[in-house]
Amino acid sequence: MTASVNLASGILFEDDWYAVQKIDERTFAIGEPLYHQQNWSYLFVGETGSLLFDTGSFCRDITGVVDRRARGPLTTVPSHMHFDHLGNVTKFDNIVVADLPMLRACVQDGLLTPTEEMFLGAYEGNDAPSFAVSSWIAIEDVIDLGDRQFQILHTPGHSTDSISLFSRDENRLFAADFIYPGDLYGQVPGASLPDYLEHAERIRELIDDGTEIFCAHGDIDEAGEHSAPLLGRSDVEALRSGLEQIRSDAASWPDEPQWRIEISPRLSLIISPEAVADWR
Ligand SMILES: [Zn+2]
Repeated sequence: MTASVNLASGILFEDDWYAVQKIDERTFAIGEPLYHQQNWSYLFVGETGSLLFDTGSFCRDITGVVDRRARGPLTTVPSHMHFDHLGNVTKFDNIVVADLPMLRACVQDGLLTPTEEMFLGAYEGNDAPSFAVSSWIAIEDVIDLGDRQFQILHTPGHSTDSISLFSRDENRLFAADFIYPGDLYGQVPGASLPDYLEHAERIRELIDDGTEIFCAHGDIDEAGEHSAPLLGRSDVEALRSGLEQIRSDAASWPDEPQWRIEISPRLSLIISPEAVADWR
């Protein structure tokens, strides 16, 4: 029975856990509204194969939901190494990873095992998985599904290894943890506010007012219902200007362990003394 949360119209529970939203005929958001992190992974189906962006949490097996929709060879890409995005990763066999030095450094004997500082699994008692990287993809390169292309963007700030996927033709950005409605984590190990600001500026320049930004964490909407978290360019601008304000106020932040700063009605940023150290 999965009726303890409300899903928006057209979204159905599957396998008693996953909320599956058909964004269009070939794009699926796979949510976990029963998990307190409320993760959303994304599946893209193309002419020559399918692409899964993030593999869900460690709570359940996501492969059934994916297999029922994917067509052709499936490629899996993790948005970053935090534990709540890497569940199930070892169940997939074509894992493409962004070619970033901190990720290359995690490979030993042919397997990538994220460090605890990159994985943060101790928060919920998860051990870091080890998996073989099928191929490394350079930042700004494109994953081509024949009739659909997804460009890999490096979007650090929340973590050093964060990437987002950009579909120029569809004018959609899949931003993972770079931006999502709610509390953004700028205080976790590996977070960098200078990186966050720099890449918020870049993303703002890259996209336009019509770009749909799908995110990796959500919360209920005004109607109390769950659906794939969706933001726009004005939210990136709010993040950018919020970070700029944090930078100009950095010297006057008190020495509290962390602060939650509201940067717009939809976005807050959690920061810490370490996070603003570079700006003091
Ligand atoms: Zn994260």
